[in-house]
Amino acid sequence: MDIDSHAEELASALGVDKTEVKTDLQNLLQYSVPIDEAKQSIRRKHGGGGSQSSTPETVSIEDVTTDHGSVNVTVRVLTVGTRTIQYQGEESTIREGKLADETGVISYTSWQDFGFEPGDSLTIGNAGVREWDGHPELNLGANTTVAFAEESVSVPYDVGGDATLFELEPGDRGRTVEVRVIEVEERTINGRNGETEILSGVLADETTRLPFTDWQPRSEIAEGAEVRIEDVYVREFRGAPSINLSEFSTVSLLERSIDINDEPPELSIAEAVGAGGMYDVAVTGTILEIRDGSGLIERCPDCGRVIQNGQCRSHGAVDGEDDLRIKAIVDDGTQALTAILGTELTAEIYGGGVEAAKDAAREAMDKGVVTDEIAETLVGRAYRLRGRLSVDEYGANLTVDEFEPIDESPADAARAVLTEVRS
Ligand SMILES: [Zn+2]
Repeated sequence: MDIDSHAEELASALGVDKTEVKTDLQNLLQYSVPIDEAKQSIRRKHGGGGSQSSTPETVSIEDVTTDHGSVNVTVRVLTVGTRTIQYQGEESTIREGKLADETGVISYTSWQDFGFEPGDSLTIGNAGVREWDGHPELNLGANTTVAFAEESVSVPYDVGGDATLFELEPGDRGRTVEVRVIEVEERTINGRNGETEILSGVLADETTRLPFTDWQPRSEIAEGAEVRIEDVYVREFRGAPSINLSEFSTVSLLERSIDINDEPPELSIAEAVGAGGMYDVAVTGTILEIRDGSGLIERCPDCGRVIQNGQCRSHGAVDGEDDLRIKAIVDDGTQALTAILGTELTAEIYGGGVEAAKDAAREAMDKGVVTDEIAETLVGRAYRLRGRLSVDEYGANLTVDEFEPIDESPADAARAVLTEVRS
């Protein structure tokens, strides 16, 4: 289509003069604005909000993209979570969760209470589409209409928020878990309304363990208690899922007892990394390489970060404190990750603590001897590693709690380190 045809089409759709539209188009194209964007911007100029002026399309969930300004969908409500947030300086209560049809699942945020519940089949008109974390999401607001669908929408997904801890993912809303509280402590934090008491700790079920925060401490959340918690949301904390109880979460004591699993899920590295971070996981792989920043290192006394040449990124020139650490590349054939071993595990593997390492480095006049010796022990051998996996743009890091050789031969077994230190 040439610019004349575009101008003609737009002008007749908007009911305005073609010459004016063409001049505007030419101006925008001159600045290398893509044609679709240019047309959208002209629609906005004449209709006040490009997306609202064009009639929303009726689509299946799998076809919703951020190219749609808004859409009409017929869906089943999978989950509804309630939460208060600060929005433009005001506290507002929003509902969030997932909607689905037979083609797919989509997250939504509802800025009004339309009164729907998990299991309801709805026809939603004029839902805004926005991008969140690389995916389209539906925004239900003042311009949105919500009505019960004429027929029930059948979906190949579980309706309702019940989930095991293993199934929870950051971004989940309105989920329900049945857990045992295995650790809990009260803490005072500086919240948005001044000093606030919160609870934090660890929950466990038959599948795994996850950390939690209760932003409105309740007495049912006590060590050893077995509880059903409805309407929790999941956030990412240090690269792994963390459960959050809001003022809308409800806690009730369970009638049954939970057979908690103290063993971590044993996964391939690809599976674990694919899960996007896990609080407790075990993988088995071969150490390919010991990375820079291993062996005898120096940390900032204020923040604990590893420093280079006496310079902390946050605190400038500092008097560094010596420490031991290992950063090892582990590969199991499916994928690789960086395993990080702290002071105690590193000392066991090295066969000596910080002082021994400093003596060796002084004698050789080279800190590298410590790293070399560690590499000599580890590289090319297979280990089982358990710890907390975080995955971000810098890669996958496993902060190791347990480290043990997977032994090929008795000779190797004799030489290898076997540790079960929980740091
Ligand atoms: Zn520092």
